[in-house]
Amino acid sequence: MTKKGCKFVAVMPPMTCEECSSDYNDWEVPPEDWALLPQKYRKEKLCEACYLEILKKKGYHVSKIKITHDSWKRKKAMFSETQDFPMDMMHIHISFSEAEQKKHGLPAGETMWCKLLMTRNKELTKMIVEVQNTSIFLDLVYGDIATVTWDKQTFHGITGRPMFEFQDIIEKKGQRTNEEKTLLKNTPKCDSRLEVDTLPGG
Ligand SMILES: [Zn+2]
Repeated sequence: MTKKGCKFVAVMPPMTCEECSSDYNDWEVPPEDWALLPQKYRKEKLCEACYLEILKKKGYHVSKIKITHDSWKRKKAMFSETQDFPMDMMHIHISFSEAEQKKHGLPAGETMWCKLLMTRNKELTKMIVEVQNTSIFLDLVYGDIATVTWDKQTFHGITGRPMFEFQDIIEKKGQRTNEEKTLLKNTPKCDSRLEVDTLPGG
């Protein structure tokens, strides 16, 4: 089955308030006003109305709190930059285990662009992609062909495009530039299942 069968549309995913379930545009307040919010709500996605309501219930005067929407404007700008990319442009995500993170000082993961070449099953959960960036942690280079999986639920938070999980490299096609070699030399390295051959400089 080729990519013909799958239709993805880039739609900027809405933010949904975890208190009242309504969709909202992202917003921010100065740190001192954010600090008024009880700890347990700070990790939630909250709309402006719920934020103000929680503060009111705590007895704060909210009339002077200035809510702005700069982060939303930034997200929208990033989305418009990518929304007209061809629809076979998606994301590849590499997860590093906690052990790998500890051992090598790696982040939780790395996200890159990829181009969908073909799907391997009808369910659209196994794909073959061409990598469109160069990893700074692994020997995974622009042009390499890789297998990925998709849970059909994970989308990139800004571009709205599917986010695949990296599985394996099946064909080394990419060439690292000298600049990238230097960059890689200076970043933490990973010797997990993901490393398919020796990292340059390692
Ligand atoms: Zn709400």
